[in-house]
Amino acid sequence: MILKLIIFAVVGVLIYRFFGGKFPKFSRTSEEKRLDKDTLVECEKCHTYITVKESIIVNGKYYCDECVV
Ligand SMILES: [Zn+2]
Repeated sequence: MILKLIIFAVVGVLIYRFFGGKFPKFSRTSEEKRLDKDTLVECEKCHTYITVKESIIVNGKYYCDECVV
């Protein structure tokens, strides 16, 4: 009975470690959502309004992908 509990605990730790690297990413994703990815910002070059997630930040200024390329 105790042996089963130990095996169960070891398997549990292995599963925890296997998914260990992935759990922080899930929490990070929810943090990014809190930063309002859909907030509109103005492109520094062409002055087009784009969302933060579409923009590329260069030297602290927002650019649309067309202006960066
Ligand atoms: Zn632009």
